Amino acid sequence: MSRAMADSPLPLELLQLLKPQLPDMLRVLRRLVTSESPSLEKAAADRCCSVVAREWRKSAACVERIPQKHHGDHLRITSVQEKSPPVGQLFVLGHYDTVYSTGTLKQMPFRVSGGKAYGPGIFDMKAGIVQALFALQVLRQSNPQMKKRIVFLWTSDEEIGSESSRKLIETEARRSDAVFVLEPSFGSRGLVKTARKGVGTAELIVQGRASHAGLAPEEGINAVHELAAQLTRIEKWNDTRHGISINADIVEGGTRTNVIAERARAVLDLRALRAADMRRVENRLRALRPVHTGAKLRVTGGFDRPPLERKICAALFARAKYLARQMNLSLGECTAGGGSDGNFTGALGIPTLDGMGAVGDGAHSDHEHIFINAMPARAALLAALLASS
Ligand SMILES: [Zn+2]
Repeated sequence: MSRAMADSPLPLELLQLLKPQLPDMLRVLRRLVTSESPSLEKAAADRCCSVVAREWRKSAACVERIPQKHHGDHLRITSVQEKSPPVGQLFVLGHYDTVYSTGTLKQMPFRVSGGKAYGPGIFDMKAGIVQALFALQVLRQSNPQMKKRIVFLWTSDEEIGSESSRKLIETEARRSDAVFVLEPSFGSRGLVKTARKGVGTAELIVQGRASHAGLAPEEGINAVHELAAQLTRIEKWNDTRHGISINADIVEGGTRTNVIAERARAVLDLRALRAADMRRVENRLRALRPVHTGAKLRVTGGFDRPPLERKICAALFARAKYLARQMNLSLGECTAGGGSDGNFTGALGIPTLDGMGAVGDGAHSDHEHIFINAMPARAALLAALLASS
């Protein structure tokens, strides 16, 4: 730490060190974005994984590639401790896969214009990976007394449900005192996400009995009617005020007119803000009983990601807000309707702060972009949190 800066608070010092590094941040960001990494294309994702690994190796960090059969490899990076053994661990989490298939770059090339940088996956969440990299570098540069080990995990399958990375994420989270998720922030003011709804999918299948609608209607059991009755019942469980939503997004049933429908199904999108509500919705689904005599119901599925509850994030958010204020920034918070890997770590009771990544807009769309001038401050905020957690 230079003597001239010794009087300013750490976050401000980190910010001053990072501001002139914006051109370097953009150079690394270009390398990451121009290496396309669709969740479902292993060869392309692996190439991007190599690009990410190369950048992190330059920071003298310990980079470990975790091979995957079907998706891109995961990357686990550990900050190298120079002095005494670490007392505790901090976990920085994100993903390098994107929802864009190979070739998207032709229509959405990487470009910087009017204070914004554009490209597939730039906001969700390659800029977040770059910010984390520079946060680690600036911590080394300013050399605050880091007592804890920092583990960074960049996964390859978040956009498709994190099936291959979930165990790894949970194992690392259990060893950690806090988790910072580099998912995009919300809105032009860069709100962090202090609550996320739990998300799931369930299927309700109705078995009735086919019969001639004209000759023997009394012998039939109409599965479509039964499904309609069940959906009317389920719709009443929606409770916007408490963040509970159940939506039948797909319905199918019957075969043709003149035949009483034998089978019908609905696919339900489930969301809840609290773990107790998540369990209640699942229990109610399992407890559904037929309205029409003889009809049979079957329910499969349920919540895939439990909610990230605000109480898990509150203390970390308060510290982030305090550190941001030292950089003359006011940091706000919001609730996200969708899930992320932060839902898994929060459900284990590990303090988790999500939406720590880039400031921008248009995730998963053709105008996805970030505000480049926010990058140094977001990196400084992460670095300050890592130095003080
Ligand atoms: Zn994401």
